[in-house]
Amino acid sequence: MRYVFGNWKMNGTIAFTRDYVKALLNEVRPATVQVALFPPFTALSNMADAVNGSFVKFGSQNMYFEESGAFTGEISPAMLEEIGVDYVLLGHSERRHIFNESDELLMKKLEAAHRHNFPVVFCIGETLDERKSGVTKDVIKRQLILVKDLLRLGDLVAYEPVWAIGTGVTPTMDEIAESISWVKDYLKTDIPVLYGGSVNKGNAKDIAAINIVDGALVGGASLKVDEFAIIIKAFGENN
Ligand code: PEP
Repeated sequence: MRYVFGNWKMNGTIAFTRDYVKALLNEVRPATVQVALFPPFTALSNMADAVNGSFVKFGSQNMYFEESGAFTGEISPAMLEEIGVDYVLLGHSERRHIFNESDELLMKKLEAAHRHNFPVVFCIGETLDERKSGVTKDVIKRQLILVKDLLRLGDLVAYEPVWAIGTGVTPTMDEIAESISWVKDYLKTDIPVLYGGSVNKGNAKDIAAINIVDGALVGGASLKVDEFAIIIKAFGENN
C-alpha cells in the first residue's frame, strides 16, 4: 500500500469540499493507494459526509493536546473524534516555523492523538540553511527523538524539506531516497515514510519510482482535483 495525502492548508470552503470530492471520486478508483484529504477545520464535517463510504479518508491539519478549557482558537481531540477524522497531521513545517511549535509541544500532541486512537501523520524536515550546513540528518534526528518510541502502527512520517514546500523546488531523486532512508534507519520500524515538498503532476512519476518512498504529502497540487488524481495514479502504477 502507498499513501497520497492532500494538505489543503488554509484553502477550501465547504462548497469547494463538496465539489472536489465528487470530482475526485469520479476521477480515480485506486486499488493500492490510500488517499486522504486534510481540509481546514471549518470543512471537516462536510468532508466527513462527502467521503462517507468511499476510498477517501480525511484528517485535521492540527490539534491541541488538552481535552477542553481556556485555549481560545484551539481544537481538542474529542472535537475531532466527534467528527470522525481518520488522521491527525502534526508538526507541519508551517506549524513549526510560523507558529513556533516545538518538538516538546508536538510530543504532547502526539500523545493526546494516541489517547484518542488517532493515527498521526508526523511531519519533519530541514530548512535550506540546515541543509547547506550539512546538518540535515541531525535535524531529522532532533525532530524524531522525542516521538521515536511513541510512534506506532498506523502512524506515518512525512519527510518534507522546508525549502521544498510551496517553492516548486525539490531535492534530487537521490537526495529524497537518502533522506527517507535516514528516517527509516533511525526509526527502525515499518512505519511508512512519505515525501512532501512541491510534488506535482510533472514530478510524481519520478518520485513514485523511488521504491523506498511510501507515498506523498501534497500541498498546493492537491487543490486541483485533476492534478491530484494524476499524482494518485502515478503512485498506484509504481506499487
Ligand atoms: C505541504 O503542505 O505539506 C506541502 C508539501 O506543500 P507543497 O506540496 O505545496 O510544497
